[in-house]
Amino acid sequence: MPSPVGHTLAGYFIYESERKIEDPFDWKKMGIFVFVSNLPDMHYVPALLLGNVDRFHYPFLHSFCLGGIVAGCVYSVLKIKKSREALYWGRTCFFLYSAHILLDYLCKNNYPSDGLVLFWPFSDDNYTAPIHLFADLQKGHLGQIFSWFNFSKVLKEILVLSVPIFLMHLLRFKTACWRPSPTNDGEKCASSIRKLN
Ligand SMILES: [Zn+2]
Repeated sequence: MPSPVGHTLAGYFIYESERKIEDPFDWKKMGIFVFVSNLPDMHYVPALLLGNVDRFHYPFLHSFCLGGIVAGCVYSVLKIKKSREALYWGRTCFFLYSAHILLDYLCKNNYPSDGLVLFWPFSDDNYTAPIHLFADLQKGHLGQIFSWFNFSKVLKEILVLSVPIFLMHLLRFKTACWRPSPTNDGEKCASSIRKLN
């Protein structure tokens, strides 16, 4: 699995992709995005507190069906509370949960070594990508977690995920420049783009 850093970057990417450029950065909302992006790996928290990160294994947590159940629960609770954003948050939770599974799918996992049970409980078949962008981290005691080996893998995650984040920001910037709005100054944007290029 990629590290929480990789999953946090994925949550940030999704948050920024859907944020309108004129909207202020919302740390609370961003925190929720990051939390759900890391949710399928939450069993590592009690394991870490018990001193062995690799202690618990729950493969079903990395199933799209479980993502659907989580999203359904979020939607239902908000709907009961008569929130107008019930559908938005239900859909977003499923999207973030699925993004986590997708990153793990692109990772060479040591456990389960043969992939993820993406469609549990309907199928116990394991799936893994033919090409892996990320490497599994060493898990176990603290010395293994904070090792140079893991540091190099996290660095690779940051480098790989920086590419879509940079492209997304570039695209947003260019799109915002050419969209007529009371606050946008076409010439100012054009000169900024020229500098960027
Ligand atoms: Zn995971």
